[in-house]
Amino acid sequence: MATLKAVRGTRDLLPPETALWNRIEAAARRVFARYNFGEIRTPIFEDTGLFARGVGEETDIVSKEMFTWEDRARAASEKPQSLTLRPENTAGVVRAYIEHKLGESGQLQKLYYIGPQFRRERPQKGRYRQFWQIGAEVIGPPSSGSESPLRDAEVLEMLATLLDEMGIAGWTLELNSVGSAADRARYNDTLRAALAPVVGKMCVDCQRRAVTNPLRVLDCKVPEDQPIIATLPVIADSLDDDSKNHFAAVKAALDAAGVTYHLNPRLVRGLDYYTRTTFEFTHGGLGAQNAILGGGRYDGLSEAIGGPKAPGIGFAMGLDRLVLTLQAAEADQSSAPPTVAKLDAYVAPLGEGLNAAALQLARELRRAGLSVELGDGSFRLKKSFEAADRTARKIVILGEDELASGILTVKDFATGTQTKVPRGELAEILKS
Ligand code: AMP
Repeated sequence: MATLKAVRGTRDLLPPETALWNRIEAAARRVFARYNFGEIRTPIFEDTGLFARGVGEETDIVSKEMFTWEDRARAASEKPQSLTLRPENTAGVVRAYIEHKLGESGQLQKLYYIGPQFRRERPQKGRYRQFWQIGAEVIGPPSSGSESPLRDAEVLEMLATLLDEMGIAGWTLELNSVGSAADRARYNDTLRAALAPVVGKMCVDCQRRAVTNPLRVLDCKVPEDQPIIATLPVIADSLDDDSKNHFAAVKAALDAAGVTYHLNPRLVRGLDYYTRTTFEFTHGGLGAQNAILGGGRYDGLSEAIGGPKAPGIGFAMGLDRLVLTLQAAEADQSSAPPTVAKLDAYVAPLGEGLNAAALQLARELRRAGLSVELGDGSFRLKKSFEAADRTARKIVILGEDELASGILTVKDFATGTQTKVPRGELAEILKS
């Protein structure tokens, strides 16, 4: 029988590598708490219509990359429904914001999430079909200050802090403004006119986009199209005064906070819902997939999916790519494999008759806060010592004599010394 494997583009994350994932997630949760963000968890699948309307029909994500299926009715009371594994989490968060009327409090909502997303992309290093994102959204009614450029600057400043705390050195913040919906409509007209004489020489996707959504031409990755794209007008020239002032205020706040950025007038991002500030943080160590995170403002998204006016700004960072970046940095620093932290103790029962007593001893130590591995009484002593030396700093031997006397034998692998310890003092001694 053919062996079953993880599906193309998906993978298993195993210890000890998952320790690095945990560290990154813990750093993110710490920083989010300092900036007053609370966690939101939304379902990993949603009604397909949410993404079609929220992300945009013409985006690569919706037009080619979603895992969508017809969910058949299982009872007369149910209707068949088209469902989709979430390709990103912003649409789900905004749906939840609307559904739970979070805006009615009048307060700005600062929400973060950590979880898997799904896109049917061509797998390669740093690009998977199931990948993890850490993201956050700041959203609320206009009266909560949700439109303020200060919110954009705060999110960007937080990201700079977060990447620094995670140990990601040498990132670049690429920044642009794509203006309001009206600015974009004007820019789309300008682009359409500029594309008309040249689009015949471009790829078929661009030929289609030039008609349906010219802005998306700027996302094109086909190398032959790049010289043409370089000659197209930039969106900065289509911004009205409000958008220009908003962007200027974002930049001024970043300058004041000392967060450096690089203006990139071609950065329009792959999703239709963005307005005004858009950004990406890139890192040189990642090769072709160099974006570690992306985001922007989405002032019209709530209304696009049937909600109240609720301007917002958010980002999503790729956890898989953060891990790759940190692993590459570690590999640069030393050629030795990363050392795995050892447990406090290994409890070795001498004979299967002592297994139950060993479980009880391990329970005592674990409840006292120690990290403990439990051996098995069927192992010979030599095998117990080898297993203990691999996993723990000390071995605690539990034989009939130890059990009866309450005096345990403890060997410290670092010093090679063996001592007798009363059971009541064992946890303290093992901690030291
Ligand atoms: P996006 O929503 O496309 O801007 O993605 C935000 C971030 O998620 C990117 O900057 C990547 O770090 C990460 N990301 C997006 N797609 C993938 C993927 N297929 N595999 C791994 N990471 C991804």
